[in-house]
Amino acid sequence: MLNELQTMVRLHELEFGLDANANLIPDRTEAEIARCRAEVRPAILSRYERLKARYSQTAVMETDDGICPGCRITLPRYQIEQLRRSLVFCDRCGRILYHPDAVYRMYA
Ligand SMILES: [Zn+2]
Repeated sequence: MLNELQTMVRLHELEFGLDANANLIPDRTEAEIARCRAEVRPAILSRYERLKARYSQTAVMETDDGICPGCRITLPRYQIEQLRRSLVFCDRCGRILYHPDAVYRMYA
């Protein structure tokens, strides 16, 4: 069972067909995309849709150094601590950020 952070990251990867390392996801299906969309809260999903329209593939990004890779702002300490367990929205550009450890656990 994926948490909301993991589901959001998975949905983004499925929609673009690439994982965070730009590897092709070969076995993605519309059914899995629909399942992910159903599991993310509507408010988060609509925010994601707006981000996607603006930033396309970089709407959701990973960071392991506490810096938003989209706009290069350094995240505040409390957000860096949140990255491993929940969705974090960059204060400046709004992108959805996560720590790669949160996703490695998803595939483990
Ligand atoms: Zn940012």
